[in-house]
Amino acid sequence: MIQDIEPSKFDIAFKNLKPQGADSIIFFNQKGEILVKAAGDSLLFPTAKDSPKSKQIIYLFSADEKRFFLAVTQDEISLEGFSYQELRELRGTCRNVDLLAAFTAYHLWRWYTDNRFCGKCAEKLSFSETERALVCKKCGNTIYPRINPAVIVAVTKGDSLLVTRYRNGYNHNALVAGFTEIGETLEQTVAREVMEETGIKVKNIRYYKSQPWGIAQDILVGYFCEADGDDKIRLDENELKFAQWLKRDEIELQPDSISLTNEMMKMFKERKNP
Ligand SMILES: [Zn+2]
Repeated sequence: MIQDIEPSKFDIAFKNLKPQGADSIIFFNQKGEILVKAAGDSLLFPTAKDSPKSKQIIYLFSADEKRFFLAVTQDEISLEGFSYQELRELRGTCRNVDLLAAFTAYHLWRWYTDNRFCGKCAEKLSFSETERALVCKKCGNTIYPRINPAVIVAVTKGDSLLVTRYRNGYNHNALVAGFTEIGETLEQTVAREVMEETGIKVKNIRYYKSQPWGIAQDILVGYFCEADGDDKIRLDENELKFAQWLKRDEIELQPDSISLTNEMMKMFKERKNP
C-alpha cells in the first residue's frame, strides 16, 4: 500500500523550519497538478536553491533525510526539466515514498489554499509557528487541518466478495466506500453505506487497517463484514455502475498495489482475510 515505505521513514511532525539549499519545494498549479521530474522510479521535486523565493513556503514533512516544503500558491512557475503532472497519472509509476509525499503534499496544499481567510471575521490567516494550524491575528481563531473519514467495506458471503465499480472516476474493481456523516460511528457508516449502495444488510463488522489518502483528503478505514440474510443486490446507480458477488478466482485486482481496497480484495482472493 502507499504507506508501506520501509525501510524509508516518513516524519509528519510539525517543525518551524525554513527551506535551504537541497530541500525539496512542492508546487501545484491551479488544476492541482504537481511539478515533478521523473528519474527512473523516483520523483524529483524542485530544490530550494532552484526555486523562486517566497514567504508563502511552509515546512511539510521529512522522508528519511530529505525535507519537503510546500509553496502555498496557485501561481504556475516553470523550471527547466520539470512538468506539471496529474497525481492519478503517477500511480504505479514511482516508489511509494515519493507517491506518499506527493499525495500528502496535495492534501495539505488543498487545505492551505482553501483556508486563506478567517471564517469568523474574514481577516487574512497566518501560518502558526508552533503547530500545523492557521491562525487569525485579529480574532484569535485557530483552524486545524481537515481530514475526511471514509470507510472501505469488503462484504463477504461464503466464497464470494461484493465487488463494485464507481459510476465516476476510478475505473477498476473496488469495494463499497463512503464518507462518515457527523454523528455516526465508523461501524454505522459501514452498515449505512452498504445498504445505500447495494441494499445488503451486514453483520460481524471487523476493523482491518487504515490508510491516508491525501488525493481525496481522506483517512480510509477498512472493514470486513458478512451479508446478513437476503443477498440480492439493489444497485444505487447514482454512485455505482456495477456491483456483483464474485468468487475468489473471478476477482480481478487493480493494476497497482497502492490502495487499501486492492489489498483487501487480494486478502480475500488469497483466503487470507480475517
Ligand atoms: Zn478572525
